[in-house]
Amino acid sequence: MFKGLLTDKAGGSYATKLTQLDEAQLPDGDVTVRVAYSTLNYKDALAITGRFPVVRHFPMVPGIDLVGAVEDSGSPKFKRGDLVLVNGFGIGDVHWGGLAERARLKSDWLIPLPKAFTPRQAMAIGTAGYTAMLCVMALEHNGVTPDKGEVLVTGAAGGVGSIAIALLHKLGYAVVASTGRAAEADYLKGLGAREVIDRAKLSSPGEPLQKERWAGAIDSVGSHTLANVLAAMRYGGAAAACGLAQGLDLPGSVAPFILRGVTLAGIDSVYRPMPDRLEAWRRLSSDLDTRRLDSLTHQIGLDETIGYASKILEGAVRGRLVVAID
Ligand code: NDP
Repeated sequence: MFKGLLTDKAGGSYATKLTQLDEAQLPDGDVTVRVAYSTLNYKDALAITGRFPVVRHFPMVPGIDLVGAVEDSGSPKFKRGDLVLVNGFGIGDVHWGGLAERARLKSDWLIPLPKAFTPRQAMAIGTAGYTAMLCVMALEHNGVTPDKGEVLVTGAAGGVGSIAIALLHKLGYAVVASTGRAAEADYLKGLGAREVIDRAKLSSPGEPLQKERWAGAIDSVGSHTLANVLAAMRYGGAAAACGLAQGLDLPGSVAPFILRGVTLAGIDSVYRPMPDRLEAWRRLSSDLDTRRLDSLTHQIGLDETIGYASKILEGAVRGRLVVAID
């Protein structure tokens, strides 16, 4: 038996509880991992609370990230004791995830823990940080270099936003952070933001084309915010869209694309092919300042995750939440 969170929808009522699970209940897979740490991301909060239907099979162990030691392996690629991590691939929504003491997984999903990080640091990064790196790589791929001008990060005090700021700053970009929490201005400047703006300036309907300002943008908010960001991109600029914290809609126009040659790069972390994941973790190893990472991380226990899930959805959590499991 082992401890874990379990989300179920029996009898029409959606609930998540901390409970004892049996190894015999674990899903199919060729590697069993003793989980050391997991994380709480926005998507985990949706899964735990049922606020948005992200869980596709019930009952489900939530948790889209995990790190731990291989306990049992049927794969020649991994042996007992190897430290591995997983981000996405459907764990926590279609396959039992990381918020439990054990996980059974497909070896194709596992990444050896990069030498640059402790298990806890790897989860401080987690899906949010790995997604932030994918966003930075998308901007680079589309020609956004530090000399081109300011890069905007929306949802700045959240997990993706905080790590995106730290990465962009280390790479030499002039970063502007958009937040709804003015009280976090010093925190955001400490991560490397040159300027902090009020997200209210971006969150209401705006003109389809606005004064050109942003050479690049990393958006975890969507909706009117992303539409306004696109409308204020500089000629030839690029924005990476990865989130929906304000909404799933995109109420804008094609004007920025057809009149200013703006690129909108969509970022999915969940089913991203392995070569890109390995490259993102290699880049995180070289481009993320671990002292800054520690400053944006808060650790909680498995028994605190349900309470923190609601706080995430209220926008009341700053930076990253690491969940100590073992
Ligand atoms: P967090 O909850 O840590 O951060 C989200 C931030 O968005 C908040 O901190 C807040 O920032 C801002 N925000 C919240 N509500 C609103 C609102 N109504 N209007 C405008 N801004 C708002 O989440 P994560 O950083 O983990 O994830 C961010 C988004 O990215 C989520 O939508 C998540 O689902 C998505 N995501 C997508 C991935 C992918 O593969 N595409 C991978 C990872 C995340 P502030 O207080 O600074 O304003």
